[in-house]
Amino acid sequence: MAAMTELGITFQGVRREYADGTVAVADLTLDVRSGELLCLVGPSGCGKSTTLRMVNRLVEPTAGTITVAGEDIMARDPVELRRRIGYVIQHVGLFPHRTVAQNIATVPGLLGWDRDRKRARVSELLKLVGLDEATYGRRYPHELSGGERQRVGVARALATEPPVLLMDEPFGSVDPQGRRRLQQEFLQIQRTLGTTVMMVTHDIREAMALGDRIAVFSAGARVEQLDVPSVIAASPANDFVADFIADFDVPVRGAEPRAAARRSGN
Ligand code: ADP
Repeated sequence: MAAMTELGITFQGVRREYADGTVAVADLTLDVRSGELLCLVGPSGCGKSTTLRMVNRLVEPTAGTITVAGEDIMARDPVELRRRIGYVIQHVGLFPHRTVAQNIATVPGLLGWDRDRKRARVSELLKLVGLDEATYGRRYPHELSGGERQRVGVARALATEPPVLLMDEPFGSVDPQGRRRLQQEFLQIQRTLGTTVMMVTHDIREAMALGDRIAVFSAGARVEQLDVPSVIAASPANDFVADFIADFDVPVRGAEPRAAARRSGN
């Protein structure tokens, strides 16, 4: 396995302009450190999903350089790139004509794993995301709730333990209780494997609970602040960040209330 230091993602002067002239990402320079879970937050339309989708070349950058594990993504075959980078999205994109078990075993199958190894991995992953194999293994995606589909999406993305994982609102349709459990289990897997994760969420609470660091974007994927959750909560870099997190009234364990931090001159 590659050393931990080699699995980061870097953006250098990255821009994405869509065909109609929309500048989704103006000039982004950002590092996701190896083994880190970085959350992207910011108002709707500020370029979070575009940023994520450029990493596995679902959207091509107009300018700038993105590297994964030290390699320029433009030098890689996109299909091969996507096989090595896990991707989880809210509306999961499960294969409708494949069962849950077959969906989870997709990439292992492409990589030539034998049947027993695939089967064992499917069992393990279903357990991990809290779905009973006897009940769910043979179901088709349309026979699942939105939250169950997302669990399967997470399991599928983790099937081959990819070193880099991109997640776009991965837990958005899971009910609040199941969500906390899934988040905690996911966090444990991520820590154990040392997976580098870039996660888009509209939920600042989720970002505070899961992120090693949080990047707060404004329009055009402009980085207003990039820091650990406790610093973002206690010392917002500017009014934009202060207003953004105030809208959510976020409790952060161990952090001073913001007003107190400001009064003390931080
Ligand atoms: P976010 O994920 O933060 O909501 P997006 O990255 O989805 O933001 O979108 C950023 C901007 O790019 C928005 O103004 C959005 O309307 C625009 N956009 C996204 N996809 C396309 C597209 N395929 N064509 C044109 N504009 C797009």
